[in-house]
Amino acid sequence: MPKVIVIGSANVDFTVRVDRLPSPGETVLGQDFYQSLGGKGANQAVAALRAGATVAFLAKVGADAHGQHLGLHLAFLGLPRESLLTDPSRPTGVALIMVDRTGRNLIAVAPGSNQALMVEDVQRASRLISEAAVLLVQLEVPLPAVAEALRIAKKHGVTTILNPAPAQPLSREVLTLVDVLTPNESEAQALTGLTDAADAARALVEAGARAVVVTLAERGALLTQTDRTRQFPAYAVKAVDATAAGDAFNGALACALAEGRSLMDAVVFANAAGALTTTKRGAQDSLPTRTEIEALCRQQGHDLTS
Ligand code: ADP
Repeated sequence: MPKVIVIGSANVDFTVRVDRLPSPGETVLGQDFYQSLGGKGANQAVAALRAGATVAFLAKVGADAHGQHLGLHLAFLGLPRESLLTDPSRPTGVALIMVDRTGRNLIAVAPGSNQALMVEDVQRASRLISEAAVLLVQLEVPLPAVAEALRIAKKHGVTTILNPAPAQPLSREVLTLVDVLTPNESEAQALTGLTDAADAARALVEAGARAVVVTLAERGALLTQTDRTRQFPAYAVKAVDATAAGDAFNGALACALAEGRSLMDAVVFANAAGALTTTKRGAQDSLPTRTEIEALCRQQGHDLTS
């Protein structure tokens, strides 16, 4: 079984559907409320698992009811609990989300224990990292911990994927540890100051990343390596909610690379996972299974089952 290690954030998301988003100081009466598992790290770990990988997920929760709930939920989904660390001094990360009828949202995140993921925590997990085929990280936990994970992975020949979300300045030292950098369009612009995705991707390759995949929502994805750039059109689907499309893309990309597929085939596979996620509402509940991803690939002329 291919092995992916995801290191990143885990949150409990509290979502209220409202007719319209409130203005500052205003209260609106909402409709239904639901609680779900979130955070880019947890979403991408579940995405890789559904795409068919064996996944370990290193994250930090608080010693509170939300942390316990997260642990049980992750274990139920099939992610081992051993790598879920607890910080007794901070609450588990939470996100407060309001979504209106048109799908627009307002989100406030209290990162809590995610901010307490330390370099030492990552060092203690170095065996887990070195045994994986692919490391997948994002930027919702402290950058020093992310950088340490990348360093350990590279030292052991593990393929590294950094999804630079939310965007923050990255040094050449960090970028040279990245095999595949996966910003969306606005993150690519924030990282480089360049509005054109192809220009931004080239600049990021020049700055040290081995390959850059810019995700372009309904326009698919753009893969840039030193010697070439290739556009992968999006799969034609009926999109209703783009939440977690990027997470699905990254999880599936990690899974495909862990299986030893080429980067191009991995992008084709990830593109299908991203597209399928937009056809259902919600975050984790909308992440597609391996069977669904393969079916869409086949249906639109890409046979990746071998
Ligand atoms: P993020 O969610 O990080 O902002 P994107 O919006 O770029 O990322 O979406 C990630 C991927 O999901 C895209 O590269 C594409 O593969 C897929 N995707 C997103 N929106 C659509 C859409 N409307 N139709 C088809 N595929 C989509």
